[in-house]
Amino acid sequence: MKIVMLGAPGAGKGTQADKIAEKYHIPHISTGDIFRANIKNGTELGKKAKAYMDAGGLVPDELTVDLVLDRVKQDDCKDGYILDGFPRTIPQAEAFTAALEKENENVDYAIDVEVPDENIVKRMGGRRSCPNCGATYHIEYIPPKQEGICDNCGETLVLRNDDKPETVQNRLKVYHESTQPLIDFYKELGALRTVDGTQSMQDVFDNIIAILEG
Ligand code: ADP
Ligand code: AMP
Repeated sequence: MKIVMLGAPGAGKGTQADKIAEKYHIPHISTGDIFRANIKNGTELGKKAKAYMDAGGLVPDELTVDLVLDRVKQDDCKDGYILDGFPRTIPQAEAFTAALEKENENVDYAIDVEVPDENIVKRMGGRRSCPNCGATYHIEYIPPKQEGICDNCGETLVLRNDDKPETVQNRLKVYHESTQPLIDFYKELGALRTVDGTQSMQDVFDNIIAILEG
């Protein structure tokens, strides 16, 4: 099963992708997490990606597409995977579709998690992330058991650099300009499914499971 998560930054793609990955035992591949790990480790890729990410822009397609194509060739992806945060532009989606077609493969489901911009601003402002294991919380909606501490690994949670209010507005603009057109792209491929992302985390998950098992 190959799944692409669509939706604005902060819509809940990563939260749901984690739960889907756990249920179906397939890897959750987040390009944002991959870039953040590269920044943390001081790699060449991380150095190139950092300025784009801090400004709320997109990392160039040429740095992103090959990274994902290499990742999905790895052994743990043979029964499927969930992509979260990729593709984010039409050229990325075209390159990815062409690479899959070469192998007679396709994306089974592109799940669009719909959340209006007003809710997104609150979601990103309250998001707290674990810099160690990547777990995500929300100070109000999905709080950790102990304030400011990761449930999984005990690390101190942080507000991501690009979740600051001045960057969030740019990320939303970039989303509407560059990423939202992917909804029609996957609709034309017959893979698009839409869920109401304003519901509780569990209700969104139940909707997604109904789609995948329907
Ligand atoms: P994305 O991966 O799309 O950027 P996240 O999964 O990181 O989004 O979610 C963004 C923020 O919203 C996080 O703080 C997360 O805990 C919170 N969140 C996710 N799903 C829901 C939901 N259904 N209701 C309320 N808050 C949510
Ligand atoms: P995310 O964790 O998905 O919110 O991504 C954080 C940031 O990483 C984005 O704002 C972009 O700067 C960068 N990024 C992640 N995925 C991509 C992608 N597919 N294409 C370009 N930039 C990306």
